[in-house]
Amino acid sequence: ETTTKEPTLRPLDPTLLTTTLTTSPKPYGMPTNWGKEDVTTDHMIICNWNSTTGWSAPRLQPYQRMDLFPTASCLHYATECFEGLKAYRGMDGKLRLFRPSRNCARMLTSSTRIALPTFPPEALESLIKSLLAIDGKKWVPTPGSFLYIRPTMIGTGRALGVQKPVEASLFIVMTLFPRLDKKPMKLLASSEDTIRAWPGGFGSAKVGANYGPSLMAQKMAVQRGYDQILWLFGENALVTEAGASNFFVVLKEAGKTILLTAPLEDKIILDGVTRRSIIELAKERLGTELEVVERKYTMHELVAAKKEGRFVEAFAAGTAFFVAPVVAIEFRGEKMEIEMRGEEGVATRVKKWLTEIMWGEVQHEWGVVI
Ligand code: PMP
Repeated sequence: ETTTKEPTLRPLDPTLLTTTLTTSPKPYGMPTNWGKEDVTTDHMIICNWNSTTGWSAPRLQPYQRMDLFPTASCLHYATECFEGLKAYRGMDGKLRLFRPSRNCARMLTSSTRIALPTFPPEALESLIKSLLAIDGKKWVPTPGSFLYIRPTMIGTGRALGVQKPVEASLFIVMTLFPRLDKKPMKLLASSEDTIRAWPGGFGSAKVGANYGPSLMAQKMAVQRGYDQILWLFGENALVTEAGASNFFVVLKEAGKTILLTAPLEDKIILDGVTRRSIIELAKERLGTELEVVERKYTMHELVAAKKEGRFVEAFAAGTAFFVAPVVAIEFRGEKMEIEMRGEEGVATRVKKWLTEIMWGEVQHEWGVVI
């Protein structure tokens, strides 16, 4: 009796990593021309997958161009997803990641949403650490410096035709990044004809397809003197998130103070690592003075709260902008000014707690030493 066996696909295995170091290291230096200069580090990791054999051995190699056919799936059908996290050089000289397992788990959620291959999230985390082991010393040299890490997966199969990817590449690159958390933010609420995400869509996946279509609105916001779009959804102007950050408000409501943010349940917003961490810390440390509430809320509620003197503060939260106070929102031609709360504010306090963990000023399981 014969049994037919399914071919076993090789899983992503970080222990198979091979290393080829660069012979022409780049000069280290902060660029003067952000957004235009190449500020990637010396090396990258890449690993290829195909539907008959699974994952190849990952390679650590000099940062370099990639070979793609013009018909590659990612260039036509947006089979692309990515992650963004930072490595921080602490005051104690140690290099840390902040909750990297959350980014790696989210990468798997994103790749699954667009039919790209699966992988053990721990394998991706291990590869990120391997790349930092090579480039971390030079590219995150001094206490207070940090590096932005961009794991990416793309469908590379070359047969045109809308189909589940049969070939893919997973790669990790790292870049220098400006500090963006110094400036308070002004937000322009999105208009009804520009919707970022909708129930049943893919707003909760970190797929490239969420970002390209947001750029026209973002450009208009900047032209009008705003920093980011505040993404609204639906007839009632539900507040969702701000640019590539999650969004929080502090309101007085029914005799209580609430820290309010949009819920994950409709999968409209990204499950931000910063968002999640703020919610957890606020529940743990601010429980006596406020209640954390994840529910749908509208711009009309915020306008009413402002009118009635119940709008306490607002802030955006994400890896890129970290925790940034929001000082203005324009909604349907009306500009609402919001006060900053300084030292006593929720924004300042959660930012301080997160900073302490990221830079190793306090020992916490979220600060993962490499
Ligand atoms: N929302 C969107 C749309 C984003 O792109 C990001 C950045 N990843 C965030 C929120 C914030 O997520 P995180 O705190 O994990 O950076």
